[in-house]
Amino acid sequence: MSKLSATASARVADCLEQRRCLACLKPARRGRMIRGCHERCYRATLRGASLGKCTLDERVAEGKLLPANSRNRRARNPVTRELLKRGAK
Ligand SMILES: [Zn+2]
Repeated sequence: MSKLSATASARVADCLEQRRCLACLKPARRGRMIRGCHERCYRATLRGASLGKCTLDERVAEGKLLPANSRNRRARNPVTRELLKRGAK
């Protein structure tokens, strides 16, 4: 977390405290949250990364995605875990 800019870490802290999605800033409702984002926002982020619009590291640096090793929620699916470990290309 220490490598985040002040703006990014404030965003992360606010979102975690207010239970908001880091990506779209809307309240985290009941649905599944992945790395601080709604599942669909997370998927949109992955899609953006696969299209070369961003990298996951960039999103983390912007405070729009939690780092993969976040204690927030551990992925249980082995495929998810493998892909998270892989990071962005
Ligand atoms: Zn969202």
